[in-house]
Amino acid sequence: MHIKRVSAFLILMCFMLLTGSVMSGCSNKAVSVLDISGDTIAQLNDADITKGDVEPARKAYVDAALTQAVQFLSQGKDLPDEEAKKLLSGCQIDTFMDTKVADGLTHAVQNSEIAEIPCGVAVTDNRGHLIACYSSDETDEDGNYLNLSTERQAPYSTLKPLCVYAPAMDSGLLHWSSAYTDKPYKQIEGADGEMSDWPKNANGSYSEKPVTAARALRVSLNTVPVQILHDYGVNNAVKLMTDRFHMPLDYEYTKAITSGEDEVIGNVALGYTYAGLSPIELAGYYSVFAAKGVYLAPSCVRKITDEKGATLYEYTDDPVQVYSEETAYIMNKMLQTVADTDGTGRQAYIEDAYVAGKTGTGDSNDGHWFVGTVPQYSCAVWHGGHTERNASPAVFRDIMEELPRDPNADYPWCDGIEERAYCEESGKLASGRCSKVNIGYYPTKESMDLCREHQ
Ligand SMILES: [Zn+2]
Repeated sequence: MHIKRVSAFLILMCFMLLTGSVMSGCSNKAVSVLDISGDTIAQLNDADITKGDVEPARKAYVDAALTQAVQFLSQGKDLPDEEAKKLLSGCQIDTFMDTKVADGLTHAVQNSEIAEIPCGVAVTDNRGHLIACYSSDETDEDGNYLNLSTERQAPYSTLKPLCVYAPAMDSGLLHWSSAYTDKPYKQIEGADGEMSDWPKNANGSYSEKPVTAARALRVSLNTVPVQILHDYGVNNAVKLMTDRFHMPLDYEYTKAITSGEDEVIGNVALGYTYAGLSPIELAGYYSVFAAKGVYLAPSCVRKITDEKGATLYEYTDDPVQVYSEETAYIMNKMLQTVADTDGTGRQAYIEDAYVAGKTGTGDSNDGHWFVGTVPQYSCAVWHGGHTERNASPAVFRDIMEELPRDPNADYPWCDGIEERAYCEESGKLASGRCSKVNIGYYPTKESMDLCREHQ
């Protein structure tokens, strides 16, 4: 009995040593990466595309797909590069990449004013599939490839619709024309010990007058979202974003608990989050406004098959209702006004498509965004280069004009919404005597008072 156990132990030891030596001795087998139509986009000897001289949209996409494939096969474990490559050895990775879209995207970016500066772009199909992405050819301090479609940057004002306006609307706190006064939220002490007003608006001034939510979003005021988030609750917003989107807000979550919500109100309301967000993440989040409030995390990988043809992974969707259908519809309409004549994203306007989106720019012009949708696509454009002007809305438009689109396509209809004429000055239902009247979108069940200022 005793001898049997020892011999069994020895056999097991020999087996482990043998397989260990075989594993470490064998070289990795080639990995194939295929696009959505089954054409090979890359054949790699060591599951790494970053060293090669590859066309930028293919390099960015394959890099993102390999990272995602490793995550699926390692079940989220953070493996060293060599271990990760072994997991993919001999595999075929079928992706959602649409090479026509990727080529259109590349043509648009390389003929735009951001062709020569750092930039990252992502395009999804609004149904949870990353269909193309792009990164200018960048390297980090160690000379490693930096994929700017997956690299996180501060999202700035592109975060406002996600973290402030939509959650507040969903909770019933806010509607299209809720009026807030454009004034400082508080005084803060600068490095020189001087007190100053906070937050600053982009134009450096305050009107000190009531302004509607729709207008505040359209011209990207900073004062209004800070007040709305204060009323809604920073913790509530952070919790909603992490629960539903898995948005990386760990820093803000902890800081709000240890130092108070006001410490991070600017991070969340104005998009100066510690971890930042990538173009792929933001394109994915914005698709909720085009898809009835339902979120599907953008996926590159459709299927992973090993060398014997066994399926190791297959995509299944995992929809999450982030906002109500009504809120998503109204937010979409509101975001369409951003690309209108006096909106900050007016250069994203396309004659034959409903563009809904939002700009974002850092205080020191260290990054510029436009994230938006048309009925078929969601697209995030980020560029650095310390330019004063935000070129992203125009690049978004150029990209959308390159992509195959149905000009008659519209966003899904939502019942229980109605158009109302409201007074731009009071935010209330327009009376016959209001001089500045606009059209807004409201849930039918939302009751509103008549403007009393102009009667
Ligand atoms: Zn009025």
